[in-house]
Amino acid sequence: MIEEARLATTDEVVAELEKRTTFVMVSHVKPDGDTLGAGLALGIALKTLGKRVYYFQQDPVPRNLRFLPDTEYVSRGLPADLPEDTLFVFFDMSSVARAGEYLPAVARKNILNIDHHLGNERFGAFNYIIESEASTGSCVLLLLQAMRLPITPAVATCLLTCIMTDTGGFMHSNTTPDVLRTAAMLMEAGADKVQITENIFANKRFAAQRLLGFALSNATLEEDGRYCWTYVDEAMLERAGADGEDTEEIVNHLRAVEGVEVAALFKAFDGAVRVSLRSSGRINVQAVAATMGGGGHFMAAGLTYPGDLQAAIAGVREALRKAGL
Ligand code: 5GP
Ligand code: MN
Repeated sequence: MIEEARLATTDEVVAELEKRTTFVMVSHVKPDGDTLGAGLALGIALKTLGKRVYYFQQDPVPRNLRFLPDTEYVSRGLPADLPEDTLFVFFDMSSVARAGEYLPAVARKNILNIDHHLGNERFGAFNYIIESEASTGSCVLLLLQAMRLPITPAVATCLLTCIMTDTGGFMHSNTTPDVLRTAAMLMEAGADKVQITENIFANKRFAAQRLLGFALSNATLEEDGRYCWTYVDEAMLERAGADGEDTEEIVNHLRAVEGVEVAALFKAFDGAVRVSLRSSGRINVQAVAATMGGGGHFMAAGLTYPGDLQAAIAGVREALRKAGL
């Protein structure tokens, strides 16, 4: 049996951040406010120490996150002259594959892995993983505080974006008193909560709302009302004039149905079937997703299903039944 890599302490990570001169902040494919906000916050803070910082992200910055500072520097390219000891910091990903296939291979000794997912594969030389934190941004905040770096309004906005993304705007059960205290502190430091709310939660394209309508009108309730699922395919995207970014909220509407314990959204476009799972607290959807090669959190998880839409619908239903739904 391979021994699991141990977790790094805050002091060890701080020492590494202080020692290195050049950084690449890496966010995951189909980025959300947590993976991107956490990287931007650490990058902006490290630049105040005179460090060289780049941001790598395979996919473009989603429309609703373009208000964040430094997003104009995010790209899928890297400079050719990176020093050999450049530290690659991975944010919010349980496995290195979540960074996508465009990122060149990075030597383990140059990887810092900052995350809060269950079942993180600890792929870094330094693994700063705190499962009890509501967001990866909250883990970054602990590092900034340990380094006594000022929480500027720009950094605070990035970190509050992380928290609001991963708590669903303070609605999910990971919204503890500590999370609210941290959010209050970030607002006092200048985080622009109104801007975050408007961009992330109240700025839906008309096409996205039309797509939501199509998806809801096809929704199916099964297992005596405990399981609600629907799908989005290419034809629906086209009919609504929408794209993949417009699908994000749909699964939450299914989860919000009275009596529903698990919700699933099947996204059959771009040549794959992606599945988003949400739980209301009894079923661990991370464990269910992990049986099919995915991952995430107890209450929110995802996977790519190796098969067509019908196979995915049947396979996920079967896996959920096995998990006790
Ligand atoms: P979403 O349904 O919003 O895409 O993802 C929900 C959660 O599951 C997020 O925390 C995300 O990081 C995680 N997740 C989504 N897809 C995958 C996947 O394919 N693999 C892993 N390991 N985690 C995933
Ligand atoms: Mn996260």
